[in-house]
Amino acid sequence: MSNHLIRTIDGAVVNIVDDVLAHHDATSDRALEILLQLRDRLGGITDDVLVRVADGLKLSRAELYELATFYPSVRYHPTAVATRAAACEDLVCALVRSPHSAGEREATRDESYLCGGSACRGRCDSAQDVVGTGSNVVHADKADWRTLESYRSAGGYGYVERLRRGDVDAADVLAAIERSGSASSVVRKWRAVRDQHGEPVVIANASEGELGTFKDRHILERDPHGVIDAALVAVAVVGARRLIIYLRDDYDHLYRELQQVINEMRVAGLGADVEFDLRRSGGAYICGEETALIASLEGQRGRPREQPPFPTTHGLFGRPTLVQNIETLYRLRAAWGMRVEASLPVTRLLDPAVRIFSVSGRVCCPGVQLMASLPNIAALIAACGGMTEGEELGGVVLGGAAGSILTAEQCRLPLDDLLRAGIRIGSGSSVIVFAQRDDVRWIAAKMAAFLARESCGQCTPCRVGTSKMAGMLAGGPLDPVLMRSLAEVMREASICGLGRSAGQFLAGAAERLQGSAEC
Ligand code: SF4
Repeated sequence: MSNHLIRTIDGAVVNIVDDVLAHHDATSDRALEILLQLRDRLGGITDDVLVRVADGLKLSRAELYELATFYPSVRYHPTAVATRAAACEDLVCALVRSPHSAGEREATRDESYLCGGSACRGRCDSAQDVVGTGSNVVHADKADWRTLESYRSAGGYGYVERLRRGDVDAADVLAAIERSGSASSVVRKWRAVRDQHGEPVVIANASEGELGTFKDRHILERDPHGVIDAALVAVAVVGARRLIIYLRDDYDHLYRELQQVINEMRVAGLGADVEFDLRRSGGAYICGEETALIASLEGQRGRPREQPPFPTTHGLFGRPTLVQNIETLYRLRAAWGMRVEASLPVTRLLDPAVRIFSVSGRVCCPGVQLMASLPNIAALIAACGGMTEGEELGGVVLGGAAGSILTAEQCRLPLDDLLRAGIRIGSGSSVIVFAQRDDVRWIAAKMAAFLARESCGQCTPCRVGTSKMAGMLAGGPLDPVLMRSLAEVMREASICGLGRSAGQFLAGAAERLQGSAEC
């Protein structure tokens, strides 16, 4: 980065930078959001822009450079804004676009799935269509969310209003959640935040980043008020005044939608005493982890922190902080009497027996499935219209990095049997389906490349382990024994869940590959 660049910056660009800085009171904790807003207006961040922002925020250029290069969505490039369209190159898009086997890929010389593309954009349910230019994914996103009027007519915001009037109190809410029996950890967290000194903060975490997961997007696209309603109850119970909605940056349609939803509420006088803050993640998968998310909100690189202390006691800028994910918030409302509505299927999540799955890959109708009972994964695939034409089930990647690769045979076993057999199902909600003809090693290598790329790099076992395993899976002889021992070191010595679970996933995949090679 050189000093002469600031002298050559275009006058119109200077005005845009200064305008964005002025809207944020030029505080350094908002550095990421400032860079993202400039990216929205300029297409990306070049050195001259970076220098002016650093000066405006009174940050060193090195500090801001570190931030800009950590978050891929900032789209930093020293001299030019990239304009070329980039197809997603991560597992699901590459799987549905690419030929099945290494031999076929070689024969067609189609290498678009290997290089030059972009990272996952969170549209794994329409993987064939995902092509992006800059931050704007060309994709027919839904914008038909339920209106405030419709939500209120179903009883929405009624409970939070009773809470504010004093008809019910925080103890009543916690008792109601406890009685609902759905989330004991929720009550523990809410109590822990409420019992601390200092002004608490509530964060609704919509930064889902696991490959093949899009359930939070599905909920917010349809019923955003259901999430905000529950978040406002949390705000009242823990005694906060600030509600941050932390959104995956790729969900730019939701960013616009939530701005409108918040405006709609302000006009209606709802949550008038609450400061709403809509922030974006910067495209780093690791920012779905609570402490990494908090670091990014403090204007730092999104690196997970050692726990304890937990965010409930020492969170955002040391304040007690409640971080709650979107599905949990949405479901919680059953505790205070919100009921399933036949006209809006997503409300079935108010029934604790209903599970939500994001299904992608080689099925006829990828998308979210709400299932009240699930005999096995094969039934879930059948609910998605079965395999795409001409394909036979080869298996699934279940539950992302904390899960496993299942064979077709395992997909036909009851889920409980899988658990009893020690199969890791991770979150269990992401299901990436592949065909018999697909190359399982290539799938494992894709997962490994994703995990190596998304490791924040601060723990050596995770940084080196994910990258070494990615290299081993990408080609050459496999050494499952070495991979298992790497996985154990990663599990023992990593700060966060990515490092602890990634090695287990990849070593399990290598053992499976070796097992099938020996059969
Ligand atoms: S385990 Fe990996 S992702 Fe997590 S903090 Fe360590 S290096 Fe970062």
